[in-house]
Amino acid sequence: MEFLRPVSLAEALEARAAHPDAVPIAGGTDVMVELNFDHRRPAALLDLARVPELFGHSTVDGRIRIAAATPYARIIDELGDRLPGLAMASRTVGSPQIRNRGSVGGNLGAASPAGDTHPALLAAGAEVEIASTRGIRRLPVEEFYLGVKRNALEPDELIIAVHLEPASGPQQFSKVGTRNAMVIAVCAFALALHPKHRRVGTGIGSAAPTPRHAPAAEEFVAGELPWDRPVPLADSLLRRFGELVAEAAAPIDDVRGSAGYRRHALSVLARRTLTWAWTEYSCV
Ligand SMILES: Cc1cc2nc3c(=O)[nH]c(=O)nc-3n(C[C@H](O)[C@H](O)[C@H](O)COP(=O)(O)OP(=O)(O)OC[C@H]3O[C@@H](n4cnc5c(N)ncnc54)[C@H](O)[C@@H]3O)c2cc1C
Repeated sequence: MEFLRPVSLAEALEARAAHPDAVPIAGGTDVMVELNFDHRRPAALLDLARVPELFGHSTVDGRIRIAAATPYARIIDELGDRLPGLAMASRTVGSPQIRNRGSVGGNLGAASPAGDTHPALLAAGAEVEIASTRGIRRLPVEEFYLGVKRNALEPDELIIAVHLEPASGPQQFSKVGTRNAMVIAVCAFALALHPKHRRVGTGIGSAAPTPRHAPAAEEFVAGELPWDRPVPLADSLLRRFGELVAEAAAPIDDVRGSAGYRRHALSVLARRTLTWAWTEYSCV
């Protein structure tokens, strides 16, 4: 197996264009599992670990730009105050070892419906920055997911960053699994309140072929929340929000849970996360 080891983004993009069948490897926490179990035997690996442009974060036009290979541990430590939803989701990924290597770029590259960062990226309205030797493009994250483990990358493209607005209101993430750590989500849900725009963002994970929003739930709750009078929320509002979130999912029965259980759990997660976020909003 050939091992390509670029030391700059320009070199990485050239290598990607010249070897479109080479598998990019960032933290390797998905790729190495596939190689070790012989699920994949690529002709070449394109190692991104020595490309400095793919690590770190900055603020660009008021939005936070996280380079694709930045490990979860750094997102948690360095961005938890400005991107609380993504940091919460990152904290639930794997173990400390996995969080020291694994990245949002790798989560997007794998495009598993169960990837934990997807709901948080959706709720926050993230964009994915994609590059090739042909140029750079940015895609709203919801357009990046095309199917189970399929994404919108062309064979010569790499994910180079994600862009998110710093939180302007409370954000939450919640995940159901069979234990507290080292677990693939049975289902997951993220919520972001955007009080400035009277908007609510949602993200559903592990309950459809791709991560997805719950648009009807977002519209309903944004219109019903007493934004100027932060009183406790009525049970009927919370229940309806939960129902609309569950209706937006398209889960399957599998070894981790039944479709019925996933819908039920999502409605509970939706009610809980909205209650937590609204309590925080009311106290500010
Ligand atoms: C023990 C264990 C526990 C885990 N627990 C969780 C969990 O709780 N939640 C969760 O969501 N995931 C979990 N994972 C999966 C994995 O850690 C995450 O998906 C992680 O985000 C992958 O990041 P990485 O940098 O290691 O990606 P890699 O393994 O390097 O790559 C993953 C995929 O993305 C592609 N890729 C990587 N970077 C780029 C790029 N810049 N441009 C284009 N394509 C790219 C690769 O080609 C590959 O297809 C776990 C894995 C293990 C082994």
